[in-house]
Amino acid sequence: MATKATKAADANPKGPKGPKAPKAPNDYDAIIVGGGHNGLVAAAYLARSGARTLVLEARPKTGGAATTEAPWPDAPEFKVTRLSYVMSLMPPTIINDLDLARHGYKIFPMGPYYQAFPEGGSIRIYADDAKRNYEEISRWSKKDAEAMPRWDAWLAGVAEVLGPLLLTVPPNLGSRKPNDLKETLRLAWRHRNLDVRTIADVTRLMTMSIADLLDDWFEAPQVKGALAVNGVIGTWAGPYEPGTAYVMAHHSIGDVGDGHLGNWGFQEGGMGAVADTIARAAREAGAEIRTDAKVGRLLIKNGRAAGVELENGQQLTAKVVVSSVHPRIAFLDHVGRENLPDDFVNDIEHWKSRSGVVKINLALAELPDFTANPGTNLQEHHTGSVEMAPSMPYIERAFQDAREGKPATRPFSDGVIPTAFDTTLCPPGYHIMSLFTQWVPSDWNEQPHAEELQAYADRMIDCYNEVAPNFKSAILHRDVVGPYQMEHDYGLVGGNIFHGELSLEQLFHMRPAPGFADYRTPVPGLYYASSATHAGGGVCGIPGMQAAKAAIADRRTALSRPGLRRPAIRRPGRR
Ligand SMILES: Cc1cc2nc3c(=O)[nH]c(=O)nc-3n(C[C@H](O)[C@H](O)[C@H](O)COP(=O)(O)OP(=O)(O)OC[C@H]3O[C@@H](n4cnc5c(N)ncnc54)[C@H](O)[C@@H]3O)c2cc1C
Repeated sequence: MATKATKAADANPKGPKGPKAPKAPNDYDAIIVGGGHNGLVAAAYLARSGARTLVLEARPKTGGAATTEAPWPDAPEFKVTRLSYVMSLMPPTIINDLDLARHGYKIFPMGPYYQAFPEGGSIRIYADDAKRNYEEISRWSKKDAEAMPRWDAWLAGVAEVLGPLLLTVPPNLGSRKPNDLKETLRLAWRHRNLDVRTIADVTRLMTMSIADLLDDWFEAPQVKGALAVNGVIGTWAGPYEPGTAYVMAHHSIGDVGDGHLGNWGFQEGGMGAVADTIARAAREAGAEIRTDAKVGRLLIKNGRAAGVELENGQQLTAKVVVSSVHPRIAFLDHVGRENLPDDFVNDIEHWKSRSGVVKINLALAELPDFTANPGTNLQEHHTGSVEMAPSMPYIERAFQDAREGKPATRPFSDGVIPTAFDTTLCPPGYHIMSLFTQWVPSDWNEQPHAEELQAYADRMIDCYNEVAPNFKSAILHRDVVGPYQMEHDYGLVGGNIFHGELSLEQLFHMRPAPGFADYRTPVPGLYYASSATHAGGGVCGIPGMQAAKAAIADRRTALSRPGLRRPAIRRPGRR
C-alpha cells in the first residue's frame, strides 16, 4: 500500500481518497483475487483508504454467486438471479460506508412464507405481523399460534447476542500471546451481562438440530415444516442433524435494513445488481476491475505476498493481496502447500464444502394458481417464499435420499418470485421464479449429471404442480444449475453455496482455520475475504470489509513502528 496515500487516509479515514499515481503499470498497492461481492467490498474499502487497487476476476463478469444472467439465448428479455436470490445479511455499516443506495442498492422487502399442502390447505408465516400469524397458525394448532410470539421473542433475544458477533473479529482462542489474550478477554467482557438463561439458549441453538428445537416449541407438522426451512438452506444436513438450529439462526438475524428481524428482500435487478452497486462504489473510489483475468498463483518474495501471476503468465505486483476465492483455490492452488504451515494445510484439506444444492430458474407465462388460494392474479402469497417443505419428515426424506447416493425423489424447495415486485427482469405479464432446491448427492460436483438433473427438476416441478395445477404448463423456459456447474463455472468448490459448510466445527474462530479467523493468513501481506471466513456466507460483504480493514490496520501499525519485522510465515498463536 502506498505510504503517502495511507497517511492521507489516516487523516480522514471516512472520506474516499483518490488513488496514488502508478509507479509502474502493473504495480499496485492492493490486488484483490476474485470479483465476487466480497472481493468488490474489499476493493471499495481499500480504494477508499487511498490504496491503488486492482480486482482480478476469472469470469467475464463480476459478482460471483451474486449474479443476474439471461440464460436463454432465444429469450434474452428474461433475466434470472441465477444462484443467490434474496438479501438480508448485509449490515447497514457497509451499505452506508459505501453509499450503496446512491449506486443502485434497492431492496423490496419480501412477503410471508407460504406453503400449500398436497393434502389441501395452506399456511402463511409473517416476519413482522403477530396478529396475522395468530390467525394463520391457529388454523393448524391453537397451541402453536400462542407459542409463536414467544418463539419470535426468544429468537430476537438470541439474535441480540449473535447479531453483533457477526461483526466481531474472532479472537485467536488458545493462543497465549498477549494481544490474543487481550482480544479474548475483550470478547468475554463485552458479554459480561449475559445471564445463565441466555447462555443456555445460545448453547441450545449452537448444538441442537432444528427438528429437536422446533419440537420443544410447536406441535403441528405444517408449522414445523415452514420454520425448519432456514435450518437446512445450503446445508449438507437434514433437519434432524445437530447444528441445523444454528443455520436457522444465521438466516434469521438479518433484517434488510427495515428493522424487522429475519426479513429478506429482493434487490431490484436481481443479485447481480447488488454486486454492480458495490463495483460502482469501488470504481468511484478509484479501484480498477479486470474480468477474464484468472489468477494462477500468488507471488511470494522474502516470505511475504508480493503480487499474483495470471494464468496467462502476466505478473502483477502489490504489497497487499486479498483473496476472496474458495479456500482450496486460495491456499492449496494459489499459495501452495510448500509455503504454508503443515497444520494449516491439513485444516484446509479437511475443509468441508458440500451442499447438494440445485438451483432451478424458471420463466413463467403466468403466476402459479394454487388450489388452496386460487387465482393467477398477483396475491400476497406470491410475494414471499413459495415453499415446498410441507413437513420436517418430507425435508428429512429428501436429505436421506441424497445421503443414500441418489437425488431426492421429492426435493425440498425455497421458491421465490422476485417479479412480484421487480419489473426489470422480464416483460410485463410474465414472471421469473427461482427455486433453491435440495438435495442431490454431495459428490455430484465431480460429474455434470446433466440428464439426472433434468429428471430431478421434472420431479421438483411435479411437486409444485400438485398444489398449483397450472404450474407445469406455465413454464416457458427453465435453467438448471447443479453442483458441477457451480464448481466449474463459479468456483464454488464442492458445490457449497458458502465456500464451506456452516457446521459447528467451521464457525467463528475455526473459519477457515484455527489461528487464522482474523482475515489474515499464514503469509504476511495475504488477507482472506471469502465467505469461508467468519460472518460468511451469504451476500453480506462482512468478510470483504474485515479483510480490507485488517490490511489497512497492519499497514498503519507498520508505519507507526518503523523497522518492525514480521515473521516470514505466521503460525497460530505465534503472532
Ligand atoms: C445457489 C445459491 C443460492 C444462494 N442464495 C443466497 C441468498 O439467497 N442470499 C444470500 O445472502 N446468499 C446466498 N448464497 C450464498 C452467497 O451467494 C455466497 O455466500 C456469496 O455470494 C459468496 O460471495 P464471495 O464474494 O465470498 O464469493 P464468490 O461469489 O464465490 O466470488 C468469488 C469470485 O472469485 C472468482 N474466482 C475464482 N477463482 C478465481 C481465480 N483463480 N482468479 C480470479 N478470480 C477467481 C469467481 O469467479 C467468483 O467471481 C447462495 C449461493 C448459491 C450458490
